[in-house]
Amino acid sequence: MSTISIELSVVVPVYNEEKNIEMLFNRIKENIPVSDWELIFVNDGSADNTLPLVIGLSHQYKQVKYIDFSRNFGHQHAISAGIENATGEYIIVMDGDGQDPPELIPELLEKAKSGFEVVYAKRKKRQGEGFLKKFTAKAFYRILRNITSIEIPVDTGDFRIIHRKIQAILKQMPEQHKYIRGQISWIGFNQTFIEYDRAERIHGTTKFTYKKMIQFALDGISSFSTWPLKIATLMGFGVSFICFIVILYTVYQKLFGFTVTGWTSMQISILFLGGIQLIGIGILGEYLGRVNENVKNRPHYIIKDSNIESLK
Ligand code: UDP
Ligand code: MG
Repeated sequence: MSTISIELSVVVPVYNEEKNIEMLFNRIKENIPVSDWELIFVNDGSADNTLPLVIGLSHQYKQVKYIDFSRNFGHQHAISAGIENATGEYIIVMDGDGQDPPELIPELLEKAKSGFEVVYAKRKKRQGEGFLKKFTAKAFYRILRNITSIEIPVDTGDFRIIHRKIQAILKQMPEQHKYIRGQISWIGFNQTFIEYDRAERIHGTTKFTYKKMIQFALDGISSFSTWPLKIATLMGFGVSFICFIVILYTVYQKLFGFTVTGWTSMQISILFLGGIQLIGIGILGEYLGRVNENVKNRPHYIIKDSNIESLK
């Protein structure tokens, strides 16, 4: 482990956030309660003016560091890159759109210092997000809680503070499909939370389409639960049992001679079995695909440019 050089690192993933950078930076700067800090912007392949703005800030303030990805690798990989290269004793992760209020930084740090390796910020209310987003998010967190063996806190994003002990362990968890909040819960130690009202995005729109959200939800579930595989097995048993009864019934019909009719039942059973089998194969495929990605062992992200010494 490298020696501790500063007290606090703040990691902010940014993807096309040109309108938010300036204001977010000022709000973060005003709310940092220590003298020794750094702010790491991870530019996740933005196509707008995000990078020049961030580099501009880094020229003005020595605390501002940046990591520029060679393309868009996704929110979770951006956070990972920031965490891995942070040098603070404590590391805060927050979104770059103002939805995670920097005003909570002092409270997060104070709580962490009172003896917690992880303090996450739990959303009491979410403003400015549509019914469907809120509903699907709520449902997802609850389903995940019920089917995983570890306690992943509900209604919590990646906005949190972690101690560098957690950082060191995260670096040893090389899975490709990251669900960082799940990984952090899995690590253990003393974890607690503070509550806040989640604000609206200041500018721009969400980068998470429903497609990305479903992908992310599947990553979360497949990384921390084998429940879908069990469901496939249970469905297999259930359907086999029904089939067994239908077979008895078919034999009975054959023996007692009512054999001509039956197109409807044939059709239903073929479609039903076909459907169940496809679901089973699909679930296997989801897991197998992820095994395949992990076996390839590619780097999780590629850094094009950075002003961090160790990455130059
Ligand atoms: N983000 C990113 N890469 C992506 C998508 C998002 O770095 O591929 C960043 C984005 O700039 C923001 C944060 O991740 O700082 C959260 O994204 P967003 O606000 O779009 O998600 P939401 O709050 O709607 O869940
Ligand atoms: Mg947001």
